[in-house]
Amino acid sequence: MRPRPIISLALGLLLPLALVGCGSASSRDTPAAHTRLSAPLQHIVKTIGDVRLHTFVAPPEVFGVTAHIIETSESLVVIDTQLLEHHAKQLRAYADGLHKPIVRVIVSHGHPDHYFGVAQFADLPTFALPKSLHDMGWRHKGHWRNHRRMEGDQIAERIVLPRSELVEPELEVDGVVLRFDAVEACEDNMQLVVRLPAQRAIIVQDIVYTGYHPFFLTADFAHWREVLEALAADPGYDYVMGGHGAPGGVETFAWMRAYLDRAETVLGSSKSPSDAVRGMMAAYPDLSGGDVMLSILEGFSP
Ligand SMILES: [Zn+2]
Repeated sequence: MRPRPIISLALGLLLPLALVGCGSASSRDTPAAHTRLSAPLQHIVKTIGDVRLHTFVAPPEVFGVTAHIIETSESLVVIDTQLLEHHAKQLRAYADGLHKPIVRVIVSHGHPDHYFGVAQFADLPTFALPKSLHDMGWRHKGHWRNHRRMEGDQIAERIVLPRSELVEPELEVDGVVLRFDAVEACEDNMQLVVRLPAQRAIIVQDIVYTGYHPFFLTADFAHWREVLEALAADPGYDYVMGGHGAPGGVETFAWMRAYLDRAETVLGSSKSPSDAVRGMMAAYPDLSGGDVMLSILEGFSP
């Protein structure tokens, strides 16, 4: 991916959304009224040679946010850590049950549904891209306040950030090569992509959503589409693991591109972000997550 200057989120009304990001539940409830989001993570496993790729998908109320475990012959690498504390605990318990050392926990970007669970992995080496670490540093207090208001004590009392910068382009774990790319200006202003070339698998997190409305309200549509086109043009991958919803194939890139085309048009002709979300819910009635985006918007209404 070509380097690109960070976009300015000069979006006025939408700027507060940077403090929520994707992945929230209900809006301005009193603590007693928080919906208990007790549904467990859905677990999907793909075996490719001697590598097992585990994907854990949160229920729709949590925007179907994913975390992944790359299981090699002797080791585990965890990608992202979930939003709700009990989901992060479930993820950690599953990883521990595999009885292999977790050699790294890597957070893909600076949105809370991907890093709020790091506290459950705080005894391990935790990493994120330097820019994402910077984002988490300035965002996390606002993220925490907003999500405690929305999801109450299902959000961890204390947020732990990844400790180390992910700077190397590649990591080999028991002979399995993981290649890292930093992609700017899509759903967040920085996104890690993890490629497993020998397994023809790629973890793109929030560049791709499957079965969910993508969080398009702060998107750089043009650049996000360029990234999707570059991914679609790469013949090296069959198995695509996104940040929300179940893994899919390379067709997900074209689907996302078409969605963004429509969303940009709808957003441009809508009176408000809420109207744009409602327009996309009408255009894509089978997708989940539109109501979550509306809840986020209601949470920031004056
Ligand atoms: Zn997300």
